[in-house]
Amino acid sequence: MKAFTETLSDGYGQTLSIDTCLFELQTDHQHLIIFQNRFFGRVMALDGIVQTTERDEFIYHEMMVHVPVLAHGQATRVLIIGGGDGGILREVLKHPQVEQVVQVEIDQAVIDLCQEYLPGHSAGAFDDPRAEIVIADGVAYVNTATPAPFDVIISDCTDPVGPGEVLFSSEFYAGCKRLLKPGGIFVAQNGVVFMQPDELQMTRQRLGPYFTDQSFYTVSVPTYVGGNMALAWGCDDAAKRWVDEAALAERYQRAGLTCRYYTPALHRAAFALPAFMQALLSPD
Ligand code: SAM
Repeated sequence: MKAFTETLSDGYGQTLSIDTCLFELQTDHQHLIIFQNRFFGRVMALDGIVQTTERDEFIYHEMMVHVPVLAHGQATRVLIIGGGDGGILREVLKHPQVEQVVQVEIDQAVIDLCQEYLPGHSAGAFDDPRAEIVIADGVAYVNTATPAPFDVIISDCTDPVGPGEVLFSSEFYAGCKRLLKPGGIFVAQNGVVFMQPDELQMTRQRLGPYFTDQSFYTVSVPTYVGGNMALAWGCDDAAKRWVDEAALAERYQRAGLTCRYYTPALHRAAFALPAFMQALLSPD
């Protein structure tokens, strides 16, 4: 049996059968493979790390998008960094009040191959007139571009190795802060805490100084193995982290959403961090 093995730590990893290899390529930026697995459906991996699968992508994409957009309540301009498979863009565009989305992805090949082999991820989102796609390095964009500022910025990046490393830097966070409107919200995927505790602490240290309210919320995604994934949160308006369930439910209904994972109650609960995460985040 051909198999894809992702090593997470010495002695621990996950193995998925490659029932059919659909595409494999060394792009200008990273190694990309898309294969068929009998349990997860089509799977896309970059540099040996599973990025997304057909079966569980909804969990991650709904929590990365609807938590900040519904917490904001009036987001009309959204910036996505990374996200080449299109799942984040698809979910952002479900919000009728969103007028423009700029997506900055470093690797055109990811967009092209995911549109071809994982069409359900973008579901036509790349053709939406509200979407503007920029092929560039996210950190260069946030530090040099001069678009109108954004209400929400979502960093759907790879892990802090290879091309994604810069998306965990102070320089990147400073650029995102620069492009946010006052009271705007920044969120970013921040790894599986049990497996990558240093990543949580590093982000707290680097992102924390840019926002008066900086925290994390969590989501559990089967293919991001090892427990809860942390999603970083930054905003200068603490009230946005604590919008009550009734207000979230009203916004959810108004947006006409029908999610498979996100609920307003889960949104609130996701900010309750396990004790070991709180300990990692406490000053000493
Ligand atoms: N959801 C996944 C996860 O949690 O592992 C990540 C999704 S994957 C679509 C991440 C995307 O970030 C890739 O398409 C990759 O090409 C892009 N990316 C990596 N480094 C980047 C950079 N410096 N600037 C912009 N996009 C970048």
